[in-house]
Formats: sequence, C-alpha cells, structure tokens
Amino acid sequence: MSDQGQHFVADHVVGLPRSGIRDFFAIVAAMPQAISLGIGEPDFVTPWHIREAAIFALEKGKTSYTDNKGLIRLRREINTYVENHFNISYNPDNEILVAVGVSEALDIALRAVLNPGDKVLYHEPCYVSYSPSIKLAHAQPIAVGTSAEDEFAIDPDKVIEAWEPGCKVLMLNFPTNPTGGVTERAKLERLAKFAIEKDLLVISDEIYSELTFEGEHTSIASLPGMKDRTIFLHGFSKAFAMTGFRIGYACGPSALIEAMMKVHQYSMLCAPILSQEAATEALKNGAPAVARMKEQYQRRRDLIVRRFNESGLKCHMPKGSFYAFPSIQGTGLSSMEFCQGLLKQQEVAVVPGTAFGPSGAGFARASFSTSYERIIEATDRIERYVQSL
Ligand code: PLP
Repeated sequence: MSDQGQHFVADHVVGLPRSGIRDFFAIVAAMPQAISLGIGEPDFVTPWHIREAAIFALEKGKTSYTDNKGLIRLRREINTYVENHFNISYNPDNEILVAVGVSEALDIALRAVLNPGDKVLYHEPCYVSYSPSIKLAHAQPIAVGTSAEDEFAIDPDKVIEAWEPGCKVLMLNFPTNPTGGVTERAKLERLAKFAIEKDLLVISDEIYSELTFEGEHTSIASLPGMKDRTIFLHGFSKAFAMTGFRIGYACGPSALIEAMMKVHQYSMLCAPILSQEAATEALKNGAPAVARMKEQYQRRRDLIVRRFNESGLKCHMPKGSFYAFPSIQGTGLSSMEFCQGLLKQQEVAVVPGTAFGPSGAGFARASFSTSYERIIEATDRIERYVQSL
C-alpha cells in the first residue's frame, strides 16, 4: 500500500512538529461567530501611500529581478533608518541584505553559520519557528526559560548556566513574541559581555521594536564590541502592517552578509521587486502611520490587560509587541484544555502557551491586533468562561 511518499521524507523533517497555531486556527476558520485573538499580524491594512508605491512600480513595468542583496536605494534607506532608530551604521554595499521577511533572513542566517551539531541558545517561550529553524540547519536548540515573575525578560545568569561546549549562537527576540517581554539595557550588557567571552554570534530578531510601549528599545548590536558579532534582523510585517509583502532584512559584518547572500542567492535569488519598492516608501514616509497604529495598540493593550486581571487571569503588562500572555494556572486547566474550552463555550480563540515551547505551559497568547470593540466583547466572553469553571 502507498505511504504517500512518507518514506522519502528526511529524518530531521519527520521529527518536526507542525505549528500548533496553524492546526488550532484551522478549527477557528470554520466558526464564523468566533472572535479570534489568535493571529500574529496587524489588523490594519498597509498604509495607502505604501500600497501606492507598489502600484506605481507595477505601472512603470518594474517586474524584474533585483540585485541579490536587494535594491541599493532600499539598502541605503535601511541604513538611514537603522542609524536613526538603533544607533548602528551599516554599509549598504556589503553589510545589508534584503530578504523575504524576517522568516527568510533568520533561516539563511542559521544556515550560513551553523555546522551540523552546533548548539544554539535561545529564550523561551518564543516565536514558533525558532526551534524548527535551528533543527532544519542540522543544529541543536538549547532553550532558556523565561518567567512571568521577570515579565519574561531574559535572565543572563540562566543563559550562562545553560551554556555548554559547542554553543555557537545566541538568539534574542525583544520585544518577544508571544510574551511582550523586553530586556533592559543592563541585562543586555551582561549578555554582550558573555557573548564576547564565549565567542558567541548573536542573532537578534527585533521585528517588534517599534511597538515598544515603555522605556527605550536598545539593540544589542549597538553595544560596544557587538556589531562585529551580531546579525541584526528587522522587517516590515509588524510596524508597517506589511505581512503580505514578505519583506525583511539582515544587517551584519560583511563576511556574514556575504555568506547569507550565497544561501539566499541559490534558494530565493532576491526579494520581490514590488515589495522592495513599497518598503523603500515605508522607510521614507511611513513614520506617521506607524505612530498612529502604535497608539491604537497601546490603547488596546491597556484594555485587554485590565480585563484579564479583572477576570481573574493574572496578566503582566507587555512592554512591547501586540500580544498579552495571561496566566491560566488559576483555572486548573492545561493551556490546551483552557483554549479548547473557551473556543467551544464562548467562541473566542486564543493560542495555548505551549505552542511557543514547554515553558509556555499555564499561559495563553491573546493578540490585541484586533479592534477595541472586539476586544471588549472577547474579554467579556472570556470572563463568563472563567466564571463558569
Ligand atoms: N520573528 C518574530 C518574532 C515573529 O513574531 C514573526 C512573525 O510572527 C516573524 C519573525 C516573521 O516575520 P516576517 O513576516 O518578516 O517573516
């Protein structure tokens, strides 16, 4: 009998789990009355002037490949933006690579630097792709747990404790998906010192940095001695509401960007030209729209966190991103039981914390990238559900 080609699948791919989020939301899609607080993308449509730039480019017949590293005009804009926002300067000629989202940038960074068996440290709960991407690069993930007591900031002592021979990379993501955690400068400085001491390369995914609501965002790449050992990843999906454009970038030392470019060249060739045109416009003139969307997110964040706490679900205030990560431990249910019950009884979808790694157990992720009114309705329903337990 046919096994549908199963015996051809590579061992390390057979072992990968499917994303828990996707499976859960296949169920939600079939429930038209459900309110989803599940998706990890802005509810705003891309600002008009950015869409217009893509339309103009298409009208002008810009339908070709670009330089593998991306349009030089875009790379120059990226340098200006990163200099202004993160206080780091990169040479547009050889220290910046435009990719198909931070997703691709992350993948090619890992594939460009990891040898089979190398170890990668990262903090957890984390974005669903981190551990699978490390395994796809034939390396070994080492998760360092973060906790609600620390508001999901990373504890440098725990990173130091988790280190073992063979560790080559430290992956960071602040503000963090799914917890909204950030890490203060002093802790980043300790991590930087540790990275230098152990000769670690840092891959820093800062895709939510514009959505920092309290304090100032610091990039580890801007700390003394770190630019030479950091691959800085950023993109347009979140702050500019451009998920469908699939565009992001990596900045780093030229030898690393060159290595990443080779992987990118043979797998992706280049990012789509229309998206690159739109991204150039976003960096030039997008700041007011980003500020307006951020204001909305902050208002929704304050509402959702207040309502969770009033409902008896203890929730820290996320300092960045558009995710709240309430504890559901008081209900006595597992993350999956809580989310399945909520969906069935009240038709509200949130994501089980365990989708983001074992240290997400006892939590759920609720995205506030949906309207204020829908958050009011969703949190009323959640309160009724919690009371019924
Ligand atoms: N990094 C993090 C932390 C994310 O949360 C996401 C998307 O949810 C990505 C990367 C992927 O971003 P992109 O759309 O640029 O591929």
